[in-house]
Amino acid sequence: MANYGIAIIGYGGIGAYHAEHIINTKSLRLKGIFDIKKDRNDLAKSKNIHVYESLDHLLHDLTVDIVLIATPNDSHYELVMHSLHANKHVICEKPVTLSTKLFDEMSFLSQKQKRELIVHQNRRWDSDFLTVKKIIDSHLIGEVFHIESRVHGGNGIPGDWRRKRDQGGGMLYDWGVHLIDQIMLLKDAKIIKYSIDFSTILGHEVDDGFLLHLYFDDSTDVLIEVQTTNFIKLPRWYVKGLNGTAIINDWNLDGYINQLILPLEETHSQTVKAGNGLTKTMAPPSEDAINKMKLPPILVEPNVFYEHVCNALEKKESLSITHGQIRVVLSLIENLMNTRV
Ligand code: NAD
Repeated sequence: MANYGIAIIGYGGIGAYHAEHIINTKSLRLKGIFDIKKDRNDLAKSKNIHVYESLDHLLHDLTVDIVLIATPNDSHYELVMHSLHANKHVICEKPVTLSTKLFDEMSFLSQKQKRELIVHQNRRWDSDFLTVKKIIDSHLIGEVFHIESRVHGGNGIPGDWRRKRDQGGGMLYDWGVHLIDQIMLLKDAKIIKYSIDFSTILGHEVDDGFLLHLYFDDSTDVLIEVQTTNFIKLPRWYVKGLNGTAIINDWNLDGYINQLILPLEETHSQTVKAGNGLTKTMAPPSEDAINKMKLPPILVEPNVFYEHVCNALEKKESLSITHGQIRVVLSLIENLMNTRV
């Protein structure tokens, strides 16, 4: 089994998360970190993690095979380019950068240097996403025609670079890049139309949320919603098929499926009292028409991303996060950003 030396640039929230997982991954050795903030360097030292004096020291360390970049979004481009020039493989946080033009340069250099550039699209391995994928792929609710994917927070935007436009802040870059990426993996179809409403209710210079509608050429429509002012959350996923509906409430896979087991014409719903009136259309279907099922949960090991990277570098498996996929999402985000006034 190969053993790769890896160093982290940016030991903030996600940098520290990476360090913890790298330490627990057999094929990786954490060589150290580099951060521009003293308190983050002190924290690393307190955990017996080596702290490089400078970026150059890190890039010149011949025992470092992989550089992992976990700094604010606007700094990714330069750090990726420096690392590739130093002949390192690179893992870069999402969004890999802020424009397709810059990404094309990064991608070109990685090919030229024969070094991998891997984007940390870790939410491809989220259990809730993989469970939705399984529901769709195994036709548990028939042909799927409507998907709602949401993340709701009630804390506003953290008061750091995420509030700054020139640093690539805002929720479309932060969460949009994950949620759009997931949807593109669920659908073997092309987007034919889209529209977005940005939320700026908190008064920052960046979006504090958005509602994005995507329409695909197989007649599926998708709603992606990210908000930061929800003190009651809506479900993480709501998926409708011709033969059922699935709901996943949260990342812990609370939810269920209602499968339609009779043709719609035979569901014999009864007229019921509703509010100050009667309804037949909105009454529940008869009991024999619906099979309430548990979700088919897909559970994932915590180190799966890092192991995948090592296997890919060893050529035991091919990289599942391709530059083509990254570019499609980045290009859509770029177009959506251009609609912002
Ligand atoms: P953060 O602010 O908590 O940490 C960023 C760190 O980078 C800070 O410690 C800062 O001092 C350091 N830094 C800034 N510029 C630097 C430079 N030029 N050289 C070295 N260090 C530098 O931010 P965060 O939440 O950790 O986010 C960092 C990146 O990770 C962003 O791109 C973000 O989108 C991404 N992220 C991804 C996930 C995920 O699940 N994939 C989750 C959170 C954040």
